[in-house]
Amino acid sequence: MYDVIIIGGGPAGLTAGIYTARARLNCLLIDNYAINGQAVSSDIIENYPGFPGGISGFQLVKNLKVQAEKFGLKIILQEVVSVNYTEKNIEIKTDEKIYSAISLIIATGAKPKQLGIPGEKEFTGRGVSYCATCDAALYKNKTVAVVGGGDTAIEEALFITKFADKVLVVHRRYKLRATKILQERAVANKKINFIWNSHLVEIKGAQKVESVMVENILTSVKTEINVNGVFMFVGYTPNTEYLTNILKLDENGYIITDDEMKTDKAGVFAAGDCRKKLLKQVVTACSDGAIAAFSAEKYLDKLKKMEYTK
Ligand code: NAP
Repeated sequence: MYDVIIIGGGPAGLTAGIYTARARLNCLLIDNYAINGQAVSSDIIENYPGFPGGISGFQLVKNLKVQAEKFGLKIILQEVVSVNYTEKNIEIKTDEKIYSAISLIIATGAKPKQLGIPGEKEFTGRGVSYCATCDAALYKNKTVAVVGGGDTAIEEALFITKFADKVLVVHRRYKLRATKILQERAVANKKINFIWNSHLVEIKGAQKVESVMVENILTSVKTEINVNGVFMFVGYTPNTEYLTNILKLDENGYIITDDEMKTDKAGVFAAGDCRKKLLKQVVTACSDGAIAAFSAEKYLDKLKKMEYTK
């Protein structure tokens, strides 16, 4: 039986792993290698302290992994399918095996939201993408639409301009949600054009994406615009489906914790983008991971003390 099992190998999970390994707890981190977390797919992270020139998400996560393994963290690549909770024993079932632990840290992050419009599913991988780092290079000298007005949409739109000739940012309001510095860069970039107060209603094409139907929300006027690709950045959904009957989640599926990362179940902690919180950033994911590990250590200490005094 492990002292702690961490589910998720992004910045939150790996930071928790660094702390649990240094606390000399018997710890296992289980990561689903098939899912690229939000950080890994960031071309450049400019606001993680200590890297004035920025660092790629891939490199940062790689560094965290090396650092955690240096302290002895055991990492396995399997998919967690369910969790069975009792106060004495938490069973984590993967696609290969069942593991037991006294405490659990959940750091499974979030996945990109889909719009659910006609053509989206059919053209995913054939012009519809949720990852600019993965696919932007396919659009050299082409025209693409980017949907969304948050940090991800604007950051990725800027990245796509390294390849594409024209990037049309389709946003449902007239005001971007993205941080001001990203807005300034996007507005100054000649390759970026904005289509305000509008949303995509359909993606069309034969073998690949050829056009999008854009509807102006204020006037209901629909316009067909020729594009070679569509990048969707309309937010994230937490990867917590497997926890629905186990933990208290909010209406959007985010895990509810206190500021010690405790969930409503004793011995279960959550960290990073899968939990309900104010600011979802790599730096806060790392902070959550450190606190969750510290809380798990205290929880295990308390259990040991109770054993001695029995
Ligand atoms: P987000 O902040 O939730 O923004 C989602 C965007 O998509 C919003 O502009 C939203 O419009 C739009 N949207 C949502 N549903 C839509 C729909 N059905 N149709 C059309 N548009 C829709 O998501 P995010 O940009 O992925 O960011 C997620 C978190 O990661 C945020 O906390 C963000 O700050 C953080 N992040 C930070 C950085 C950074 O610091 N460098 C980089 C990336 C992400 P409205 O604005 O009208 O709601």
